[in-house]
Amino acid sequence: MTDQRPITTTDAGIPAPSDHDSLSVGPNGPLLLQDHYVIQKMAQFNRERVPERVVHAKGGGAFGFMEITEDVSQFTKAKLFQKGARTDLLLRFSSVAGELGFPDTVRDPRGFALKFYTEDGNYDLVGNNTPVFFIRDPSKFSDFIHSQKRRSDNHLHDHNMQWDFWTLRTESAHQVTFLMSDRGTPYSWRHMNGYGSHTFMWVNAGGEKYWVKYHFKTDQGVKNFTDADAGAQTALDRDFHIRDLSYAINASEHPTWTVQVQVMPFEHAADYRFNPFDLTKVWPHSDYPPINIGRLTLNRNPEDYFAQIEQAAFEPANLVPGIAASPDKMLQGRLFSYPDTHRYRIGPNYLQLPVNRPKVPVHSYNKDGAMRYENYGDPVYAPNTAGGPQADPSLYDGESYGVTGEIVRAAYTLHAEDDDYGQPRALYDNVLSDTDRANLAGNIVGHASRPEVTAEMKVRVVEYWRNVSKDLGDNVAKGLGVNGG
Ligand code: NDP
Repeated sequence: MTDQRPITTTDAGIPAPSDHDSLSVGPNGPLLLQDHYVIQKMAQFNRERVPERVVHAKGGGAFGFMEITEDVSQFTKAKLFQKGARTDLLLRFSSVAGELGFPDTVRDPRGFALKFYTEDGNYDLVGNNTPVFFIRDPSKFSDFIHSQKRRSDNHLHDHNMQWDFWTLRTESAHQVTFLMSDRGTPYSWRHMNGYGSHTFMWVNAGGEKYWVKYHFKTDQGVKNFTDADAGAQTALDRDFHIRDLSYAINASEHPTWTVQVQVMPFEHAADYRFNPFDLTKVWPHSDYPPINIGRLTLNRNPEDYFAQIEQAAFEPANLVPGIAASPDKMLQGRLFSYPDTHRYRIGPNYLQLPVNRPKVPVHSYNKDGAMRYENYGDPVYAPNTAGGPQADPSLYDGESYGVTGEIVRAAYTLHAEDDDYGQPRALYDNVLSDTDRANLAGNIVGHASRPEVTAEMKVRVVEYWRNVSKDLGDNVAKGLGVNGG
């Protein structure tokens, strides 16, 4: 044994008897149950995995900070958005549909989940690399995800069921346009934008309310793989995105994003031309121009992937004074489902793990439960006369707003220009270049040409895209050899 190295121990810190040999009856004999050290090793190994995330399982991330360079105090009193504020953060990137070992470079949206360690507790913003989403009501979320993951019978991803869902739920068209474009195969996490996607409320110190959308624009420039290059990269390195980020930060190439917000006065929402809470829609820049407010930098790799990334728990319900939820139905669903999944996946005390715990003291009346590291002391109830913590409701002044109506199960009320195809059409007609359009059609054709996609489904695929653009639908028809193609 070399003198410099520490002595191996059990997890209780007791010096281990051997690094190599189990305790046996003679060198060739059976093993003994009293070999606590080996039994602890085997038992711990059996428990190394927590359940992987049902969505966004494969990911990576890094620590960094956000600096606010502009004065937006007229819109929010949130401390992390005051000019000059610098807030530490964790950013986790991910793909959506694959499992923990899935290749990084396959076609998929990418998660862009932020945890800001603010002086008012943790603020989480759980976004994607696209400004919109496939559905607008959380009752469809598990159905949608099931269609993107594996079949029950043969355990295969199945493009037929993906197109079945998308063509039946036409609000998907905007997000599927992003997904099938080359933005569906980003070159790296450093080279993609992030979007908060949902609409949130900001409240200023005077109690005035605004609606807000967040944009994080990559300063490295947007860079995507073509479908063919993504395939080639997948064959070369399944962990390319994790490696790219980790190596860049190790080489002190710290990626940055310009932080922007679109701000809508509270009163505009009622008759804005699009329903501003519909997650399948953007707010056109011409209506609400993005305002630069600061910069986000990643400068530190995790030292312990499991402790800091796998156990990182983001929840859109973590909102700090000055920021509140909107009536976006998908956001409302996620306010519940994220903390719920963490309680199941990591345990009820996930907020006490170092990566998740706030950098400010917690004064809560919650206590006990599996794997609790510490309680907050007495008194353990409120109200009390024992000097326990008490809430300050004035911190949330201004967040309230009136809502009335029948209790119904119904789609959103349509605003003047709401329809499922208008915004993807604007993307196709006004934003994509000729090369982007050709690649989009080619990517759709490749995706819908897999053997499991039926002839009848191909006809539906063509119709779906003809509703976005006749030109695009005709090109897809040509590529698939159906429906007049
Ligand atoms: P604008 O012309 O003002 O903005 C279009 C935006 O599209 C760009 O600023 C850019 O935003 C983004 N974009 C550029 N190239 C691509 C691409 N190849 N694939 C996807 N997005 C790209 O138009 P509008 O604001 O009126 O929006 C028109 C359409 O653009 C929308 O229907 C939507 O599909 C798409 N879009 C709009 C965004 C918004 O928040 N308004 C954001 C992203 C896309 P960025 O810098 O964010 O990439």
